[in-house]
Amino acid sequence: MSTSPERLDAFMGRANAAYYASRDPFGAGGDFTTAPEITQAFGECLGLWAAVTWQLMGRPDPVILAEAGPGRGTLMADALRAARAMAPDFAQAARLHLIETSPLLREAQRARLPEAEWHEDLAGLPDGPLILLANEFLDALPIRQFLRRGGAWVERFVEHDRFVERPAPDAPLPDAGEEGEIREVNEPARAISAALGARLAAQGGAALFIDYGPAESGPGDSLQAIRNRQAANPLSDPGAADLTAHVDFGALAEAARAAGAATHGPLPQGVFLLRLGLHSRAAALAASDPGRGARHLEAATRLTAPEAMGRLFKALVLCHPTLATPPGFETA
Ligand code: SAH
Repeated sequence: MSTSPERLDAFMGRANAAYYASRDPFGAGGDFTTAPEITQAFGECLGLWAAVTWQLMGRPDPVILAEAGPGRGTLMADALRAARAMAPDFAQAARLHLIETSPLLREAQRARLPEAEWHEDLAGLPDGPLILLANEFLDALPIRQFLRRGGAWVERFVEHDRFVERPAPDAPLPDAGEEGEIREVNEPARAISAALGARLAAQGGAALFIDYGPAESGPGDSLQAIRNRQAANPLSDPGAADLTAHVDFGALAEAARAAGAATHGPLPQGVFLLRLGLHSRAAALAASDPGRGARHLEAATRLTAPEAMGRLFKALVLCHPTLATPPGFETA
């Protein structure tokens, strides 16, 4: 463990790399759960979203089907099963590529998706038309935090298990703000959005990001640690808890548009999934699985209800500027 102050993003990157390399955090006995682990209907709906988006793209064959941060591989396994059943041409054309840094989670993914190719980052994807899915990937990327002190920005560093502040004359922020206000900047997420925006504009396709954060970016500290389904101190015991921050969808959309892409959303997850027919799918699952029917319906409600995951979670699409509106993002 380092003793000199470490910038928050370096600390968070190191802590999460250690965390994801050492465990499978998902599911019943894990630290937290995610939409694909709550119901198979989530990945199935996203698989059909990808199939319709592929049709809107003009049915390129082959097409790169990629996922960033696939966890246990559940979302993509569900998506491909639905695609094989409902859109076999798309499933045939799709070449599967997964972006994952954790060796342990890569093994879990390989068990379910043996046909995939793995990459350390998005830059490793081959060229060509792309459909990319990512659920709860961006929130795990490291943030910087700045505070307004005495009419200037200072930046948060971590020393032992405490924050210390250092002057930040080059903060990537306007030189203005309320005394005491906290601003977060996720530089890797912005860089990914900009690079993907440029790539989609040049080579075609669409990227769907689902994550949590407010519709309008604003000041505030959203860094949190989750361990055993409970909030923990983010600074103590790096690597023992999952560190996340709210995603600034506005900043991501702006970075992608500046690079030449079009964007749709952010849309509340509940609205997006209702439009994709999540509840119809849950009802069909309930009808074919009477012993657990109520659980299928409750799971779908958990993903769509505003007071559960329906409002805080958002869906954002980056895409080629002439692509027709992807399913779920119709404005009417
Ligand atoms: N999408 C999955 C998992 C979300 S957890 C689900 O919804 O269940 C975050 C995932 O991103 C994990 O698979 C983690 O190992 C991966 N990850 C975290 N940081 C990453 C990085 N910098 N590059 C690639 N993958 C990363």
